[in-house]
Formats: sequence, structure tokens, C-alpha cells
Amino acid sequence: MKQEIMLGDKQEIPEVVKNSNAIEAFAKRQQTIMDKLKILTDAAKYDVSCSSSGVERKGNGRDMGNCSAAGICHSFSADGRCISLLKILFSNECAYDCKYCINRRSNDVPRATFTPDEVCELTMNFYRRNYIEGLFLSSGIVNNPNYTMELIYQAIYKLRNVYRFRGYIHVKGIPGTDPLLIQKIGFLADRMSVNLELPTADGLKKLAPNKHRKNILAPMRQIQQGIQQSKNEVILYKNAPEFVPGGQSTQMIIGATPESDYQLMMVTQSLYENFALKRVYYSAYVGINEDKELPAVTGGTPLLREHRLYQADWLLRFYHFRAEELLSEKKPNFNILLDPKCDWALQHLEQFPVEINRADYQTLLRVPGIGVKSAQRICGARRTARLTFEDLKKLGVVLKRALYFITCSGKMMYNTKLEEDYITRNLLSVHERLPFDRDGVTYKQLSLFDDGQENVRLFEHVAGARLKIPSGSV
Ligand code: SF4
Repeated sequence: MKQEIMLGDKQEIPEVVKNSNAIEAFAKRQQTIMDKLKILTDAAKYDVSCSSSGVERKGNGRDMGNCSAAGICHSFSADGRCISLLKILFSNECAYDCKYCINRRSNDVPRATFTPDEVCELTMNFYRRNYIEGLFLSSGIVNNPNYTMELIYQAIYKLRNVYRFRGYIHVKGIPGTDPLLIQKIGFLADRMSVNLELPTADGLKKLAPNKHRKNILAPMRQIQQGIQQSKNEVILYKNAPEFVPGGQSTQMIIGATPESDYQLMMVTQSLYENFALKRVYYSAYVGINEDKELPAVTGGTPLLREHRLYQADWLLRFYHFRAEELLSEKKPNFNILLDPKCDWALQHLEQFPVEINRADYQTLLRVPGIGVKSAQRICGARRTARLTFEDLKKLGVVLKRALYFITCSGKMMYNTKLEEDYITRNLLSVHERLPFDRDGVTYKQLSLFDDGQENVRLFEHVAGARLKIPSGSV
């Protein structure tokens, strides 16, 4: 079966080839670049951290491509592939056996490995046809981390120096790789990421026994220091080579181990603070493998949980919230019904209402419905005039959320009550409302893991329409 998939109708397997290793080797020799592309783009769909931004590199009239600091717009195909970066694995062969990963060595899946030239050819051909704006290259572990990263290095070295490709390149760093290789790759790639995989060392030991926390943190630290050093050098010497100019990111699988949202947010916060990461990505666990160590979650982790984590992550990065303000050991998980900012505001009603014409920027940022841009606009506009609710609408404030928490010149927009249940009921859109007054159900104590039927129904409603992307790879 396996060899049929890989060979297609190109050639019959000779009778004499009996041994299964020989069949596999024979099949691999027959793979065309398109066969490999099919296998390796499919295998790469499990990696979510393939965003791009922060690199400005104009075309120079000689070489191919450029980068825009505004980042590349992505769209995701129905199966989760990112289609404005060519998102591929260099290889889906893997010497490791991470329990949650489809590419683990104990799974019987079609395998393929590109050559460095094939990666270059594909990237250039896709770029010339305007299908992609950059490359996202990850890989399973072929033989060992150094061997694999050496192949990846050869590919991006050729891309940059032989094919003269100036477009965006994001490379996944494999834990355990020699620091010299990481350094060489860092001077060619725009962004690098090393996956944390699981939030705790215990989780890692249980589900990814070949990976070790210190092997993951070491390259992260090296990249962080390299970025800082490179920034300093660029100030002194204008033409100094840039090291990972787009910054580094990481990815965590959520729901495969029992950590709470609070623990995840604390890990995230410490990654931002201690490793200066650009982004932390969360990948909702989906059960694709059978293993007694894996949780028996039908359909995987609810994507609404992943969504709430991204919302909270945004609050940490741009709204100056601390993880401890959003959650605690007593309240370890996000409210499924309300976004983390609204939920925080409802737990801190003593800080509201906020007077729009007087509150400082930091206070404005904490009002639900006011974003970074609208807070900046409010601070600018009120220098010349007293703002009204009509003005706020024009400045981009989402009044349907903000109106419960603000006053303009001492007046609220409508005659509303500053009361948790009342505001919650009104914040939920009609189709999301629970039968609040019918049987005494309240919104107060609901959490991600409440198992009341209404919650289950709501969960399915909200999360059901979204695509589920399994986690995994490197
Ligand atoms: S997560 Fe990475 S290292 Fe682990 S089995 Fe999958 S491809 Fe290999």
C-alpha cells in the first residue's frame, strides 16, 4: 500500500524486490519532486508558527525578490497550509518519536526528503510565478539534528548565494543543533523559531522523550543574543550582516498535557520577558495518534481555547497586561463566553467607568472595545476638543463593548448598570446568550472545563465551524 502511494503508476516494483527496506529505498528513488512536494507540504500543515514580518529589504535590480516590513499577508488553505509562504518540510523522516506527531518514526506514513537543490528550485519557480512571497522551512530529524540542519543550511545558502533570492525565509531551528550551524543559518534566514512544544519539562519528557528542555532553550538563547549583538553592530557599521532580522518565535501544543491556561500564560510571559520572542504560537492538540500517554479528547482540544490564548497573548504584548492579572491559581482558565479583556474588566468593575476625556493612555487601553490605535487617536484628538460618543465611533472605538465602561464628559452613553451579570448578558450576542433568567443560570463561574449542556452546545457552535489543525513537526 505504502509503495503504491509513492510510486503512483510510474513503474512496477520488480518481483525480486522482496525486502521491505529495499522496497522503500526503491520507491524513494522513484519519487519526483512533485511527489515529494505533495508529501512534504501536507506534512508541514501541522506547524502553525509560520507568520512573517519585520524585515524590510528592497529589490536591488539584480537579484530575485524583496521583503516588506509590513509582513506578508497569509491565507490558509482548507487543510491549514499557508499559501503565501511556501510552507514545506525538508523531510518528514524522523529519528524521534514524539507521541503527538504524525511524522514520528513509529508511524507508517509515506516519507520523502528533498535535496537542497530541489528546495531552491521549488522556491524560485513558485516565486517567479507569484504563488509565494517567501519560504517557511521546517523538517523532521533525518539521522540527527546536525545532519538535518546542515542540509537546511545548504538549501538556504544556495538560495541566497547561487539563486540570489532576497525574499523572506523562515527556518525552524532543531533543538540539539551545533551552535555554529545555528549561527550560520541565522545570518541567512529572516526569522527563526525553535518550538517549545510543551509548556513544562514534565510534559516534554512524557510526550517527546527525545527532546530536552535545555536543548530547546539553548538555541533560543543563542538566537536572542545573536539578534541583540547584530542590532548593536548594525548601529556601528551600516553594512554589518543582520542576524535573524525578523526575530524569533516559538510554538506550544495545548491540551496534550494537563496545564491550565494560567500556566500557559505564565510560560508565555516568561518567554517574552526572558527570550525577547516576537511571537508565541498555540497549537490546539488534535488526537491523530493512538497512545496511552495522550489524552483521550474526542476531536482534540477546543479551538476556542486556542483562540482565547491568542487573545490573552495580544493583551500581554500590546496592552501591558500581566498574566497574573488575567488568571490565577484560583481562576486557572479563561471564560469561554467572554474574551479575556472583557472578563478582566468585569472582575474589576471598581476601576470603571473611565472618563474618556481625562483617563491616561494606559487606562484607556484596558477598556473593552478600545484598541491600541483607538487609544492613541483618543489621546491625540482630545487635545483640541472634548470627545463625544459620536467622536469615539469615528475614532474606531467598538462602542457596543465600550459603552458599559466609559463616560464622555461625565455621562454614560445609555442608562446602563455597572453590574457584572447585567453587562455580561448584554455583551453576549443574541445567538450566544444562555437562558439567563429562565432557570437561574448565571455567567459568573463558567469556565473552559464546565461541562453543562449549554456550554457544550455553545462550544460546538462557536468552535465547530473552525478548521481543526493537528499539532506537530519538529
Ligand atoms: S515533532 Fe518533530 S521531532 Fe518530534 S516526531 Fe514530529 S517531526 Fe520528529
